Amino acid sequence: MTVLRASRGAVVLLAVLFAAPAWPAEPEPSAVDPAVLARIRDAALASDWAYQRLSDLTDKIGPRLSGSPQAEAAVQQVAAALRGAGLTVTLQPAKVPHWVRGEERAELVEYPDRPAGLTQQLRLTTLGGSVATPKGGLTAPVLVVHSFDDLTAHAAEAKGKIVLFDRAFDQELANNGQAMAAYGQAVAYRVKGASAAARVGAVASLIRSVGGADFRLPHTGVMKYEDDAPKIPTAALSAEDAMLVARLAAQGRVEMHLTLSPQTLPDADSHNVLADLPGSDKADEIVLVSGHLDSWDLAQGAIDDGAGVTAAMGAVQVLKSLGLQARRTIRVVAWMNEENGSGGSKAYFEANKDKLAQQIAVIESDSGAGRPLGLHAAVTPDSVEKLSAITAALQPIGATAIERRDGEVGADIAPLQEAGIPGFAPMVDTREYFFYHHTAADTLDKVKPENLRRQVAVMAVLAYYLAEMPEPLPRVAVKK
Ligand SMILES: [Zn+2]
Repeated sequence: MTVLRASRGAVVLLAVLFAAPAWPAEPEPSAVDPAVLARIRDAALASDWAYQRLSDLTDKIGPRLSGSPQAEAAVQQVAAALRGAGLTVTLQPAKVPHWVRGEERAELVEYPDRPAGLTQQLRLTTLGGSVATPKGGLTAPVLVVHSFDDLTAHAAEAKGKIVLFDRAFDQELANNGQAMAAYGQAVAYRVKGASAAARVGAVASLIRSVGGADFRLPHTGVMKYEDDAPKIPTAALSAEDAMLVARLAAQGRVEMHLTLSPQTLPDADSHNVLADLPGSDKADEIVLVSGHLDSWDLAQGAIDDGAGVTAAMGAVQVLKSLGLQARRTIRVVAWMNEENGSGGSKAYFEANKDKLAQQIAVIESDSGAGRPLGLHAAVTPDSVEKLSAITAALQPIGATAIERRDGEVGADIAPLQEAGIPGFAPMVDTREYFFYHHTAADTLDKVKPENLRRQVAVMAVLAYYLAEMPEPLPRVAVKK
């Protein structure tokens, strides 16, 4: 593009020489200078500001479940960091659930050929939102099923039992770049298993952990009770222990003693952290770049979603440090409560529902800290070619793929996408994401600093381009 502009005279001369019958329309001037995008990329790749913020969040605070003192400390820490970067910070109030884990224990107390007096301890973790077992736990036979259809087929046997949904995570799919599809398939049992089991008379519900590794780690995550079923306690066994129970149950009666003591406390007051880098001539128009600040309570939430939220923060810090001001305002949002209720997402939408026309594009990173490969873009088909300047700038780091989608690309930005706003997410390597997702092993060491720098580069180039381009991308219908 620069070459074309520099040689305009030569182009005209050539056109005259060849006597082109129709002189093409004046080429659109490059909306955004490619050299500026390259500068942004290089500055992001040279900075560890985001990684330092991630270290602060993980090592100085740790787990950040909504409603916890740690979540509140994270709000204050991130707000201070963004203020320190020179941005205008607002705390946006949000009501969030306040669930606390308590004790979680399970042992097999009866199984075929059990040597007298022996029991076996299992590794498990309570699912977020679960009710407790009776004090002292409950003891019941285990019914192992492998799917909802399998449960229906064995419905007559479920009364008074602990149902175990032994459904394996399809790591083969994940290995082939389809980790989110594998997650979607397995997570249905985590979310809906308890109510399905309760409907046929079960006293508790267990799942095989939604995760692809073999480290005997239980994976937590949110579950939901449906209105037409009694609330029964529910937890996730490590994959290995689910397989153990299934093997024993295939040989005869298995009984488990299960003790879970979570509590649901009254909803808590919390906040999204918003930080604006004001635009120039279109300052009332907003390009949102985000990740979620809350995490599960078992670990530091480094990959879910410390990396995403600090990459979003880093993207805007890079622009600010370069003294760049785009035409539109770029707004960092550190969402509260993605994991178990979306209270932050709902609060933002509610606060902006009368000014959605000003929301131009929304970006969320929530797929971990793997190497960036490009972008997921929920945009109209015609919009894809308008993104080529972005992928050109990201070519040196190999983040050139654009996967256009018709659906949501981030849980917190979903309501905004449903209102027609184009949505984006960094596409990252997720082959190992579900090894650690929602486990006690989601810690800082899982994040490679160079991958976080690359993710900052992707988010910064993308956000700046969307904020600077002359006309915003058209609105798009997104499937729920
Ligand atoms: Zn997440």
